[in-house]
Amino acid sequence: MNRITSQNADPADIRKLKSMIEGSNRVVVLCHQAPDGDAVGSSLALANILSNLGKHVCVITPDAPQKSLMKLPHAREILVASHKTEAAQYFISAADLIVLLDLNDLRRIDRVAPLVEASAAPRIVIDHHEGPDIRCDLMFSSPASSSTCELLYELIEAAGLMEHLDTEGATDIYCGMMTDTGNFSYNSNNPRLYHIIASLLEKGIDKDDIYKKVWNVSSASRLRLCGHALSSNMELMSDLHGAILWLGSDDLKTHGYVRGDTEGLVNQPLAIPGVVWSVFLREDEPGFIKVSMRSQGDFAVNEICHTCFGGGGHVNAAGGEIHNSTLTDAIKKIKEVMSLNRHLLPADLPRVNDNNYQK
Ligand code: 5GP
Ligand code: MN
Repeated sequence: MNRITSQNADPADIRKLKSMIEGSNRVVVLCHQAPDGDAVGSSLALANILSNLGKHVCVITPDAPQKSLMKLPHAREILVASHKTEAAQYFISAADLIVLLDLNDLRRIDRVAPLVEASAAPRIVIDHHEGPDIRCDLMFSSPASSSTCELLYELIEAAGLMEHLDTEGATDIYCGMMTDTGNFSYNSNNPRLYHIIASLLEKGIDKDDIYKKVWNVSSASRLRLCGHALSSNMELMSDLHGAILWLGSDDLKTHGYVRGDTEGLVNQPLAIPGVVWSVFLREDEPGFIKVSMRSQGDFAVNEICHTCFGGGGHVNAAGGEIHNSTLTDAIKKIKEVMSLNRHLLPADLPRVNDNNYQK
């Protein structure tokens, strides 16, 4: 799979990137809805460089990032389109350059998509999801990159813009690299990642502090909510080598759920020997269920999410949605779908035990 680096990036594309940036004055930087650390990190990092180059930059997210990401430098200046629709409309219509980060399909920016479609401003896409499908003037698509932040770093270096990335922008890049690799626990064997981190450290980032602020801060109610899901709402499907977890709208209400509280929960069952896939269902409101899937190895959950739940993502981390369904029916549907995909399971997996696996 192609992985764009500063060494192999197409020189013509890099020249075009530089000239599009040079020719712009009012830039809108956009990322996907329910923005994660990579989406927010890459947007703020690009905004950091563009501001340091003297451009007027507006970072827009379709809806609000989770609270932990608001500790990133300048995160409070993000314009949240669902809160300030008219302002978003104004900035997009006034932009002379639009950069779309960490998304491969305009449906991922939801209500902002028509505003972007209506704009005549040139568009750049920088992304690491497979199968990009966005009309644009310049695209950097690198599915083999572990994060959009990693890809952005390579492009900054290739374009000779590194001197304009300061400690704040470097912090944003590290955040996206860290969150999209589970703190460097998957998609993280490429030695180049650690060269990039070394140079971010040289730019003055405090990586321990970023980890603490973004990932290791939790409310008591969040811990209780996740504990409730693991203890009462988790079903191991031993014969299918998977696990399903769920939280109903009542569970969310009881525990004072706020966006971001369930981040990482879906990964937890993968720690059980023999478990290859995990699905988390969150009933955000009655009738609407958000699907999160994780897997290990070649068991591709993005295709399942694309085919069955109108979503997508990466081979081992994907998501989708279920509409007009009760949670009970959604759980049933997941069981059916995963059962139909049992042929994707590798042979010779260890048995999944529901009790202490060492016994
Ligand atoms: P999460 O499970 O953390 O919400 O999302 C994991 C990955 O799946 C992310 O990389 C995200 O881009 C992708 N993803 C999640 N939900 C959707 C969705 O509804 N549609 C698409 N296309 N991708 C999604
Ligand atoms: Mn990403």
